[in-house]
Amino acid sequence: MRGSKMKTEYVDLREDKDIRERLKKAAEIIKDGGLVAFPTETVYGLGANGLNDEAVPKIYEAKGRPSDNPLILHISEFDEIKSLVKEIPNIAYVLADEFWPGPLTMVFNKSDIVPYRTTGGLESVALRMPSNKIAREFIKAAGVPVAAPSANSSGRPSPTKASHVLKDLEGRIDMVIDGGEVDIGIESTIVDVTGEVPIILRPGFITEEMLLEAIGRVEVDEAVKSLVQGLDFKPKAPGMKYRHYAPYGKMAIYKGDNKKVIEVINEEIKKQIGKKTAVLATDETKDLYEADIVVSVGSRQSAKSIAHNLFNVLRKFDEMGAEMIFSESFDENKLGFAIMNRLHKSAGYNIINV
Ligand code: AMP
Ligand code: MG
Repeated sequence: MRGSKMKTEYVDLREDKDIRERLKKAAEIIKDGGLVAFPTETVYGLGANGLNDEAVPKIYEAKGRPSDNPLILHISEFDEIKSLVKEIPNIAYVLADEFWPGPLTMVFNKSDIVPYRTTGGLESVALRMPSNKIAREFIKAAGVPVAAPSANSSGRPSPTKASHVLKDLEGRIDMVIDGGEVDIGIESTIVDVTGEVPIILRPGFITEEMLLEAIGRVEVDEAVKSLVQGLDFKPKAPGMKYRHYAPYGKMAIYKGDNKKVIEVINEEIKKQIGKKTAVLATDETKDLYEADIVVSVGSRQSAKSIAHNLFNVLRKFDEMGAEMIFSESFDENKLGFAIMNRLHKSAGYNIINV
């Protein structure tokens, strides 16, 4: 275990009562340079004062996060961005109008008050205004931009429940605020608005189609489209290059005709003598497998249901001791693009075409 043990205070805000009053202590912790995990609509975040370059390193320490992987600054009012960026491109007003508060992160050229420790040494800064009520009230009470990556140990699936945060970070952070299970379940879409054409650096809940509809033009970072991570893999969002979201078991994704995928996975399962096998299935297919563990990630009729459950299912496999995990795959359009981006990373790009 890294770092010294501390007591992690648990605050239950699942009932929508006295939120403001009960967030006072959390805000004090941020002002004092401490760490508070809190719910957002995407996943749980691990927050610190993003302008305090003694507080920010504690996030990296608690998560075991590589120091070149920058943090997103969370704000509660649009006007707060003015002091954090060099200029606000017109497109950012349009995007904020359409998608803030919500699961969209925008990358700007940073102003001098944003420490390099927050941006991983970059001249740019990522900003988001979440819509989750607890998150908004918490940021407002803290009175500073809250730097927050996902509240998991580096490399593990992102947390969608307070229990996931405690599992990874108990004893390493000052407080966790429980706001119940999050709504969306996968992280924000990151869009770089510093250039002529906005670029998607990380796919997320706001899809390319939604962005196109709002602003007419958007590109996807080449590294995001790539299915192999070679030596020259240099995504513009540094975090995208790390193995991520990984369950403990060995995982493979099966692509191709649905029927054939089921057939091939069942054949593979038979070969796994003495190994605990698991399948990431769907409502439509969960009864068709002969594995030790079969979990449905949601319905093929609803990409939202799959996004919502994905990280939770990966963590369930760990709880159940899955050693070999076989995963179905999904169409890579719309929200499916973000879902498959996360699945590819969980499996370390171990993809089998049937
Ligand atoms: P997390 O909050 O754990 O989802 O991680 C934040 C993500 O935002 C990582 O993938 C970072 O690489 C990305 N990010 C944060 N700041 C920037 C930035 N200035 N430029 C590009 N990507 C960024
Ligand atoms: Mg993360």
